[in-house]
Amino acid sequence: MIIFEDLFTALPVWLTILITHQLLILVPASAAYLALWVWQDNPFRGRKIQPGFAQAENIGREFRYTLFAALVFALNGFCIYVFMVNGWTLIYAEVADYGWLYWVFSLIATIVLHDAFFYWAHRLMHHRRLFNLFHRLHHESLSPSPWAAYAFAPAEAVVQASFVTILIFVLPLHPTVIYGFMLHMVLRNVIGHSGFELFPKGMASHPLFGQLTTNTHHDLHHSADGANFGLYFTWWDRLAGTEHPQYREIFASVTQGRERPAGAPPGAGGFASRHVKTTPLT
Ligand SMILES: [Zn+2]
Ligand SMILES: [Zn+2]
Repeated sequence: MIIFEDLFTALPVWLTILITHQLLILVPASAAYLALWVWQDNPFRGRKIQPGFAQAENIGREFRYTLFAALVFALNGFCIYVFMVNGWTLIYAEVADYGWLYWVFSLIATIVLHDAFFYWAHRLMHHRRLFNLFHRLHHESLSPSPWAAYAFAPAEAVVQASFVTILIFVLPLHPTVIYGFMLHMVLRNVIGHSGFELFPKGMASHPLFGQLTTNTHHDLHHSADGANFGLYFTWWDRLAGTEHPQYREIFASVTQGRERPAGAPPGAGGFASRHVKTTPLT
């Protein structure tokens, strides 16, 4: 393999990939935490999805596991680099090789395919035989903070990181598409775990924009059992019948400052660890 012929070449590459991945997650999560959780007078202060805030102990756990997940993603990124420089993947260097139209198509295709991968891998990790090993740790955040976005157990971090590693052998991708996809993935994940609804009112019921998940959508996945497994789009949950029956009502109550509808999950608020009630799917 080319890369291991020169360790002095490999070391700076590894450090660059490691720092890039840590910053890719740390910067958006820190910004969301400061803007929404520390800044008490933020414009979204009336849009807290669950009534309570996670306590410091829980946020500390989310922070530590997020740093660890970034390390796993960086190791995966280094593997992708090794595969790439050896010419084993479909990654291409010049945008002109396929043109800008394909560049846009490949970015959209990567996001749509990742949404399908995430939904079904997520459903699988909720199976009672897999839940404890892969996914229980992520659900210790009943009321997530921005740091919960990548609070994964080691086994789940490997699953989540593997998507791009598989895709580079299937779809020709320019490196900027991979970076653009990862930035989009991190931003959507961080705001989806922010605990506040940032999307405009009426969005969840809109025929077009309702195809996109809102922050309430994933927050409900943490506070309610067995619902809302999707990441970017709502269509897999609708097709598979796993959308929370009160999703739109709860979104409306959060965005319009109304009372939570009767029967809505109350929200755990405080420290959830050791009190996880989530029931794995069978
Ligand atoms: Zn889950
Ligand atoms: Zn989550």
